[in-house]
Amino acid sequence: MTNSIAVFCGSAFGADSIFLETAQNVGKTIAQQGKTLVYGGGRSGLMGVIADNALKEGGKVVGVIPEILVNKEFAHPNLTELHIVNNMQERKLKMSELSDGFIALPGGVGTFEEIFEQWTWAQLGIHLKPCAFLNVDGFYDDLIKFLEKSTEKGFTHPRFMQSLIHDSSIEKVMNQMDHFIAPEPKWGMVEKVQTEN
Ligand code: AMP
Repeated sequence: MTNSIAVFCGSAFGADSIFLETAQNVGKTIAQQGKTLVYGGGRSGLMGVIADNALKEGGKVVGVIPEILVNKEFAHPNLTELHIVNNMQERKLKMSELSDGFIALPGGVGTFEEIFEQWTWAQLGIHLKPCAFLNVDGFYDDLIKFLEKSTEKGFTHPRFMQSLIHDSSIEKVMNQMDHFIAPEPKWGMVEKVQTEN
C-alpha cells in the first residue's frame, strides 16, 4: 500500500492548461485518498499547484527543499512538514525515504532526472517501490516508446519495463501502485534488501 506518494513535476506550468488542471486534480485526489504528498517543497509551477490543492482538501503535504532553492523555488509556508536539506542529493534521498512510491507528471529535465533516479534505484534493489509516469495528453508517449526500444535492443530488462507504471488517469496510476509487486532487482540484490529490512 502506498501511504505516501512522491510527485515529481515541472517547476513551470507548461504551455497547455491541461497540465495545470491535471496538477490540481492530482493534489486533490492524493488528499482525498488519505495519502500523504511528498514533493519538492516549493511554490513554483505545477509543484506549487499540487501542494495547494492537496492542502485545500485537508491532505498532509511534506516538502523537501535544498537550502539554495528556498528563495528561488519559494519554499511553501503552509506545509504539514518542510525539510530543509543541504543539497540536491540529500533532497532526493530524503524524498525517497519518506515515500512509498513515485509519480512523474509532465515536467522538464529536473523531473526526468528525479523519476529516472528512483527507477534505477528500484532496479538495483535500493528500494522496492513503484515508479510511474502520469501520461497527461500523451506527453510521455515518445519517452515510453523509446524505453520500449531500449528493452527490445537488450538494454532495459523486460521485467523492469513491465514494472514501470504509465497511464493517463491518476486514479489508475494510484491503483496500480497500491497493487504493485516489485520485480527481482538486478544482480540478485533482492536477498540483501529483504534481509536488511
Ligand atoms: P523541471 O522539471 O526541470 O522544471 O525541474 C523540476 C524541479 O526538479 C526543479 O525545480 C528542482 O526542484 C528539481 N530538480 C531538478 N534537478 C534536480 C536534481 N538533480 N536533483 C533533485 N531535484 C532536482
